[in-house]
Amino acid sequence: MVFSASPRLRVTPLYLPAMQSVRLIEPAQPLVDQEIPDPAPAADEVIVEIRAAGVCHSDAHYRAGRGRVALPITLGHEIAGVVLEIGNDVTNVAVGDRVAVHYLVSCGKCHDCLRGGEQFCAHGEMFGKERDGGFAEWIVVPARNAVLIAPSIPFDEAAVMMCSTATVYHALRLAGLQPGESLAIIGFGGLGVSALQLAGALGASSITAIDVVPEKLAAAAALGAVGIDARRDDLANEIRRITGGHGADVVLDLAGIASPRLAALQSLAPGGRLVLVALGPQPFTFDPYADVLTRERRIIGCSDHLLSELPELMDLARRGDIDLSSAITRRVPLEAQAINEVLDDLDRGTSHLRAVVTR
Ligand SMILES: [Zn+2]
Ligand SMILES: [Zn+2]
Repeated sequence: MVFSASPRLRVTPLYLPAMQSVRLIEPAQPLVDQEIPDPAPAADEVIVEIRAAGVCHSDAHYRAGRGRVALPITLGHEIAGVVLEIGNDVTNVAVGDRVAVHYLVSCGKCHDCLRGGEQFCAHGEMFGKERDGGFAEWIVVPARNAVLIAPSIPFDEAAVMMCSTATVYHALRLAGLQPGESLAIIGFGGLGVSALQLAGALGASSITAIDVVPEKLAAAAALGAVGIDARRDDLANEIRRITGGHGADVVLDLAGIASPRLAALQSLAPGGRLVLVALGPQPFTFDPYADVLTRERRIIGCSDHLLSELPELMDLARRGDIDLSSAITRRVPLEAQAINEVLDDLDRGTSHLRAVVTR
């Protein structure tokens, strides 16, 4: 009998280690509990033990079969946890570090990546959409996607910052909001709370929140904003009145509904900027001359955010400039039924702000 020499002892495990996950198997069907193999890190990757995963409105869209989703897949793209294992080449994080996960894996080499537009990378893949995401016990991610979080920031707040907060931060940067400028927010959900706090940290002079749900307007008022019912016929005049007749300098549209969007555009001060953040199926018609040209207003599209913005965001949170504790109104376990109920509520419309899967 001849034994071939082997440099490594190979052991065949009696069972394959598996982890709990909540997955979308078929479009327009409820998510299901499923055990899937444990992830293993490549040399430039880390494994994160997930402590919090935010449930996003996008997850409801993906479950409904909308969007380019690689099925079957573990949903969840707002992720924070503890580094459990690192690949051989990893130097930016260590085992035991508290991290949040940037949800887009981009190539870093193409024209868009190099010009600072990584969200348009043709090779980009998103956790919870094109790669397995955060509704699971662990996740494997490129080490550069792991963003350190300060000890004072809870995991659930760090998780939520990775999507909604990061998106509105990107929107405010695109708008170039300056200290002393006024902001109006259309649609006061999870993104609205983040927008309000970030705008405060950036020195906004006044913040107006526009919504139709009384609880949301009350929440905005409790955080120092002036609330307006979006159904008012004189919405543009009302925004102008609140801003001392000047008009809003920046409007973030977080709702995607045509009539308040138009009213907000018409309420803008000269040089004002309307940033379109929400997906809106309705066409948006405006008068290019009266509504835009004569007042040098700008309409800006906003898509996702950049990895480079996340440490800045974490720094604002560490300094206490943003506190998302009021944005999280629901915590659920890592179970398909609980997550499906949250998604059902998002489909129906809910007075809840953010829900987070916590472990
Ligand atoms: Zn999201
Ligand atoms: Zn790229």
